[in-house]
Amino acid sequence: MPSTRNTRRFCSLLISFALLLGLCACSLPPGKSSCTLFAMDTYMSLTAYGENAEAGLEAAADTLRSLDKLLEPETEGSAVYRLNHGETVQDEAVLSMLHTCEAVFEASGGAFDPTVYPIVKVWGFVDAQYRVPTEAEIQTLLECVDFAQVTVTNTGAGLPDGMALNFGAVAKGYAAQHAADAMRAAGVESGILSLGGNVQTLGEKPSGGLWEIAVQDPFDESVSVGTLSVGGGTAVITSGSYRRFFEQDGKTYHHIFDPRSGYPCDSDLRSVTVVCQDGALADALSTALFVLGEEAALRLQAELDTFELLLITEDGRIVLTGGLSDVFTPRKDSPYVLSYPQ
Ligand code: ADP
Ligand code: MG
Repeated sequence: MPSTRNTRRFCSLLISFALLLGLCACSLPPGKSSCTLFAMDTYMSLTAYGENAEAGLEAAADTLRSLDKLLEPETEGSAVYRLNHGETVQDEAVLSMLHTCEAVFEASGGAFDPTVYPIVKVWGFVDAQYRVPTEAEIQTLLECVDFAQVTVTNTGAGLPDGMALNFGAVAKGYAAQHAADAMRAAGVESGILSLGGNVQTLGEKPSGGLWEIAVQDPFDESVSVGTLSVGGGTAVITSGSYRRFFEQDGKTYHHIFDPRSGYPCDSDLRSVTVVCQDGALADALSTALFVLGEEAALRLQAELDTFELLLITEDGRIVLTGGLSDVFTPRKDSPYVLSYPQ
């Protein structure tokens, strides 16, 4: 019967169409998957490409959540809590970050010092109960700020009594790098992670070539100052006074402290962006160089030569070190003057 024949023909057409679709799915460009999560006091967005994208995102998110738990200084039982309460800790992540901190503490002459934590806390940046402490409170707390007194070996770390630290200035860079490693272990060859604006790339862009990373305008957070083109495995990490602050009696107090004075540092920079292959180092350096200011930051960059810098000064200049001169594209209507140090 014609109707049966037609039905059969229709069915076989349907099957061949389905088969074709199946084949197409395999040869289509790799898929993109993204997710967001809140950890380490910040919004994070993760993107992975390719057939293992979903598994990669899950692995990266697991890594970020477990690091968040380990490093949360106010949660009883976390590694940092135990460290701050007189115990010796052996966690690999803590030891690794302490080694980075040690290097940056020394290179910055103490401008970077994670033991400034009690100061950060008394100003209210931990529980969001912001206040200006008394001079006496600050002086008392400063007696216990000195990273040189932290014992760090390859097998354990400990703090003297009364001292406390946090990894707020290094953890996001470290975590992004390890989350990218977890993605790669799950079979992802191309991906990008942004932890509150701190970016870590994994592999090349799926279409090949460099990633375009926007650098936020610290004077107007709704726009970027331009983009940096970077390769796989690069961290692009920014610190700045505009990221967290409060106002009292007409004065602004931000969250990056001068460990010598106990006050928010008085920097001639508005933001520091570090481009480096080591995420933890990039994060620690971005904070350290913000405290040091333009001249010392550029001097240290020239001396170490293991990272590049995009500085935005309080007087409205963008300063780029040599390695970034060809890879930065300013926004079209940019009001900034670009300059290159000698
Ligand atoms: P963000 O957290 O905005 O990315 P940073 O990486 O610069 O910024 O880290 C700032 C955090 O680091 C602060 O919230 C505080 O916990 C801690 N911190 C502040 N000043 C210093 C400093 N001089 N050295 C080390 N850590 C600091
Ligand atoms: Mg930092």
